[in-house]
Amino acid sequence: MRGLMQHAPLDVATLMRRVEQLFAHKRVITATATGENVATWADVVTRARRLAAVLDALHVPHQARVGTFGWNSQRHVELYLAVPSGGRILHTLNHRLFDDELTYIVADAADDVLFVDRSLMPRVWPLVDRLPTVRRVVVMDDGGAAELPADPRIADYEELLAGVRAPASPTAVDESDAASLCYTSGTTGRPKGVLYSHRSIVLHALMLLGVDNFAISERDVVLPIVPMFHVNAWGLPYAAMLAGADLVLPGPAMSPEALAAQLSRHRVTFSGAVATVWRSLLPLLGTVDLSSLRMVVSGGGALPDSLSKAWQDGTGIPLTNAWGMTETSPVVTCARLSSAHEGLDADARREVLRKPGPPLPLTEIRIVDEAGAPVEPDGTPGELQAYGPTIAAAYFGADPSPSSFTADGWLRTGDVGALDRHRYLEIIDRTKDMVKSGGEWISSVLLENEIMAHPAVHEAAVIAIDDERWGERPLAFVVPVADRPLDENDLRAHLAGRVASWWIPEKILILDEIPKTATGKFSKVSLRALVRDGEVA
Ligand code: ADP
Repeated sequence: MRGLMQHAPLDVATLMRRVEQLFAHKRVITATATGENVATWADVVTRARRLAAVLDALHVPHQARVGTFGWNSQRHVELYLAVPSGGRILHTLNHRLFDDELTYIVADAADDVLFVDRSLMPRVWPLVDRLPTVRRVVVMDDGGAAELPADPRIADYEELLAGVRAPASPTAVDESDAASLCYTSGTTGRPKGVLYSHRSIVLHALMLLGVDNFAISERDVVLPIVPMFHVNAWGLPYAAMLAGADLVLPGPAMSPEALAAQLSRHRVTFSGAVATVWRSLLPLLGTVDLSSLRMVVSGGGALPDSLSKAWQDGTGIPLTNAWGMTETSPVVTCARLSSAHEGLDADARREVLRKPGPPLPLTEIRIVDEAGAPVEPDGTPGELQAYGPTIAAAYFGADPSPSSFTADGWLRTGDVGALDRHRYLEIIDRTKDMVKSGGEWISSVLLENEIMAHPAVHEAAVIAIDDERWGERPLAFVVPVADRPLDENDLRAHLAGRVASWWIPEKILILDEIPKTATGKFSKVSLRALVRDGEVA
């Protein structure tokens, strides 16, 4: 017998109706080249309904892909709403990728139209003749000074919006229909498409609201620094909307100074970004008032204690770690202090929050051994696998990568993790980044964290290099703190107290900067290329 409850679809249009009815007055603030644009959620939803009518007028077919090249901005939020609610698929693109990756991704997705921030037109327009599926390019004037070519394919966002007679009428979608598409940033290989459904987006937004997770509420002012072109900015725009929170968006103003000013001026309570962003803000912590912050999430990579402690010292709150990937919407685990941690001192509490923690409701994680059998939650390392309604079941497009999924339907993450007795997750490394020295594994992440605990080290990344005797040895790239000379022997002495002696790298190379991926993480692919191409000794 089936249950007799209503089958209200979990879709993006439901989020729009809610924010319109309950939180119409709450604000969406975007930094622009000349200042700031302040709108209400009512303005955003009204404009999104007109934008859906623009897509009708442009004859964008049902389920066609609508590509975006945009910063975190109000117009990008309008696209987040208008495209899926009109039955099309939002495809966010990362302008920091290489030309060949971008042309590959646009062709794989077969994007029908592109929406491009004017400041990004110099990046995107030269590629357009290599993008045969793209019929139109709609420019969003973000104050960028780029000259626009005279080309019939180009249209202006505001002119199109002003030109429609009426908002689009609601489109019925099935909650399992595709709503948005994002490609992995290719840190470990060719980009792969992940196709989110309406249902996965709504469930993920609801999960972030949980009090044991991001606890986003109507009282919050949310600033997603994590880009809207990567995994829906961790779902934060949808979560802010569902909760009725104010949303503050940095636009192209992504310098540490601009971000710190926005956090302070708008009394931001919640923000999320990768660790490299939080590290870049360290020198500013004493210079701006950040007392409004209640939760600062660091995700997408390891969170070194030295960084979290510096935030705790500078603002009173440590950083909170969360784990996820493009394939998982992305948040699967979020650090949390539970009743089991009562009585811990500040250092021990920070240590709990530094690790990715337990899975969110409705998601499950397990660690398996080399034979694929789950191991006990006792710190035994193995491959991390994930399962749940917000986790990919397959890839979109030309690279289906079936080996990324197990026979029982779990996602193989490619991360090495371990669970403690509370089933809290610790990420040890990516499978491909571990260093196998003399038959034993060295975690590049743990070694980096210990190197970065040295006061004269700003950033550090470790890769494996071939070694005749040991098979592989760790090679450390280190960026010293400005104006502080770094003594290699002193660094080795520091490590001697913290890691096994055979983990200590013989080779330490000083760089001005660690190359970053398109999403701001340490790019080990680039570091390996430096070694391969003989650019470093
Ligand atoms: P890409 O795989 O292209 O870098 P993602 O943004 O999907 O793109 O990255 C997901 C990966 O980032 C994970 O597989 C994991 O290796 C790493 N990662 C994400 N969150 C954390 C975290 N909290 N701690 C350690 N590593 C993390």
